[in-house]
Amino acid sequence: MMLQMLIIGGGIHGVHLAHCLLQQSPLRHDDIRILDPHDELLHEWWRCVRNCGMQYLRSPSVHHIDINPFSLDKYAALAANRQDANFIPPKSRPSVELFHRHCRMVIDDHRLESLQIRGRALEMLNGNGHVSVVTAKETILARFVLFALGMGEQPLWPPWAARLREQGVLVNHVFDPGFRLKDIQDGGPIAVIGAGISGGQLALHLAKKGFESVLLISKRAIQVSDFDFDPGWLGPKYLGRFHRQSNDQRRQQIMAARAKGSVPRDMKLALDKAAAMNQLTCIADDITDAKCQNGGALLIGRHGQYECQKIVLATGFTENRPGNGFINQAIKEFDLKAAACGFPVIGPSLQWHERIFVTGPLSELQVGPSARNIAGARHSGRRITAAFNKESISRKVI
Ligand SMILES: Cc1cc2nc3c(=O)[nH]c(=O)nc-3n(C[C@H](O)[C@H](O)[C@H](O)COP(=O)(O)OP(=O)(O)OC[C@H]3O[C@@H](n4cnc5c(N)ncnc54)[C@H](O)[C@@H]3O)c2cc1C
Repeated sequence: MMLQMLIIGGGIHGVHLAHCLLQQSPLRHDDIRILDPHDELLHEWWRCVRNCGMQYLRSPSVHHIDINPFSLDKYAALAANRQDANFIPPKSRPSVELFHRHCRMVIDDHRLESLQIRGRALEMLNGNGHVSVVTAKETILARFVLFALGMGEQPLWPPWAARLREQGVLVNHVFDPGFRLKDIQDGGPIAVIGAGISGGQLALHLAKKGFESVLLISKRAIQVSDFDFDPGWLGPKYLGRFHRQSNDQRRQQIMAARAKGSVPRDMKLALDKAAAMNQLTCIADDITDAKCQNGGALLIGRHGQYECQKIVLATGFTENRPGNGFINQAIKEFDLKAAACGFPVIGPSLQWHERIFVTGPLSELQVGPSARNIAGARHSGRRITAAFNKESISRKVI
């Protein structure tokens, strides 16, 4: 069977794009499949959110996987769903619980689960008028593919932390596949490294559970930013100039624009309150080394040394291009162009090749600093469906 579109990755991006293509392009249910190795769609999203004990999204209520921006607001207004805890300011940030149920509704109502093929793309071959995607079990033929790979599979491990783990100290990364928040037991000081939204949330969660000594260690004093990036990046205010710049300049702007290692105002207040009540200690220091000590560790920073029994890293993801070997192989096979930062050089339709589209981090040099977020998925959805409605592509769709 020849598919029209194989979406590689079943996260927020892959699912939203499948939904957009089904609703807003000539493609029909039998034309599209989503290839993802997990048991269910959105698996990586739930795993990451659950593992840092997140209660509310950082993004506003108009960012979700459905098409109408007000779909989540409408869903929340239904009598069965109405609750004070549904949203918090600013800009109506939805609770994780509400967001979860809304995702479920979209997936169920549009039978998106039935699009999933379980497996991992290992290799891609350039066929005659199609692409062959090879998994461990089968070869899937499609006229187009869409790379929707997130950063979720590449947690960032500082070298000192990797060394400590090898020496037997209990070190986890909050985004490691094997990590489960509920398995963490109290017993001696626990250090959370990184005070972005994941680290902040995790430290608050442990403090709330009554852990005796929680250290939240971040390179600099905790920064406040309500969103991951200035909302001006969602439209022409900043994107107009961005598109006139070189790929190197675009990369620098993306790095500068993303409020990495910051927390929303409400979380900063909660952290300050917990610190004032001695439920946790916030430390601004850059940990550069560590050694094993008394079954735990001594963390060595630029300004001081800190003893702990356990460490949880909330240090985010590596900045490398996602996809590893699979994308490297595709670059060779299809002669794809990458910028100096390694990310795809793509046009406004987010096409890397006449048969390959990208979304998520891989679309960053076009979509800008919002590319990794839900807003980025919505942006890609508009551009890719527009491309599919153009005659040149729809003629290729049989
Ligand atoms: C804790 C946390 C909270 C966040 N909160 C927000 C928020 O409030 N608002 C917001 O806008 N953004 C938020 N984000 C950022 C972003 O929206 C999420 O990270 C989102 O999950 C990204 O979706 P994705 O589809 O790009 O990636 P993922 O969710 O990582 O999905 C990609 C999928 O592709 C699969 N895959 C990878 N390689 C292959 C392959 N070769 N073959 C087949 N499948 C493959 C992966 O296994 C995975 O299932 C948050 C991120 C985190 C980590």
